[in-house]
Amino acid sequence: VKDEGRGTLRFFEAAMDEQLQARRRIEHELSGAIPRGELQLHCQPIVNGRTGVIETFEALIRWHHPERGCVPPAEFIPLAEQSEQILRIGAWVLDTACAAAATWPQPWRVAVNVSPKQFRQPGFAVSVAAALTRHGLPPRRLVLEITEGVFIQDAAMAVEVLTALRSLGVRLALDDFGTGYSSLSYLQRFKFDKIKIDQSFVRRLGQHADTLTILRAITHLGHNLGLQVTVEGVETPEQLAILRELGCDQMQGYLFARPGPMAALSELEPERLRA
Ligand code: C2E
Ligand code: CA
Ligand code: CA
Ligand code: CA
Repeated sequence: VKDEGRGTLRFFEAAMDEQLQARRRIEHELSGAIPRGELQLHCQPIVNGRTGVIETFEALIRWHHPERGCVPPAEFIPLAEQSEQILRIGAWVLDTACAAAATWPQPWRVAVNVSPKQFRQPGFAVSVAAALTRHGLPPRRLVLEITEGVFIQDAAMAVEVLTALRSLGVRLALDDFGTGYSSLSYLQRFKFDKIKIDQSFVRRLGQHADTLTILRAITHLGHNLGLQVTVEGVETPEQLAILRELGCDQMQGYLFARPGPMAALSELEPERLRA
């Protein structure tokens, strides 16, 4: 029994070693990804829920790895968040997104995902202001997508930063709404401009009768608090019909468009992008 236990332990140790090495390798490779030009922004339209007209493009990062091809953000953003790398990546995303949006037709906004660590970095609001000025992008054309992770550790500080960002004139969205532990309590702490209901709700729409009830309740709650309500992950006409009926303000999902290279946008005419 003793030997067997030791064997199992060794097996786990070897597996953990391998995991750790794989992580170290990705971390190392990621640190050179910006200078090598391997990071790219894709973007996906967010359309008006009633008219289908494009209002915003969400910037979504892509890593084109020389050997492994396109690495999805779910595989490297969480890793980058464990080190200081997310700060450099976040700054690059903000700068690149503002530069691109400044060349787009006037009404379009750009939405940028902000990681909690990036948000908590001293001087974050100042760096946002600097990016806007650098590229001449009017603040109201930038939406920052924040998750409730920013409130953990120091909620009072988070509210201070959010207030500073608000005074710049940028828009603030609470992303992944409904997936955390206390999404509701954060609506009381700060008045966001909009909530983005996590796509897991839309996905369960056809499968779970209660999901419709929950979506309706969240939408009413958002509207009663004076917030816009965005749903993401809309893939089918059936989902679209239900969400229209609920009165969701904005929609995003494969039904309208998949994310595509941001660079391609500057070449398109606004009329051609109407969903
Ligand atoms: P998120 O902010 O919730 O982004 C929405 C994700 O849903 C994107 O995945 C998007 O491609 C995907 N999506 C959009 N419509 C549909 C649909 O109809 N069906 C399905 N199944 N999926 C859809 P993506 O691009 O892989 O990004 C995943 C996550 O990575 C994002 O979730 C965000 O948390 C993070 N992320 C992406 N870019 C950045 C970034 O620049 N900075 C930071 N900090 N995080 C980022
Ligand atoms: Ca987002
Ligand atoms: Ca989301
Ligand atoms: Ca998400």
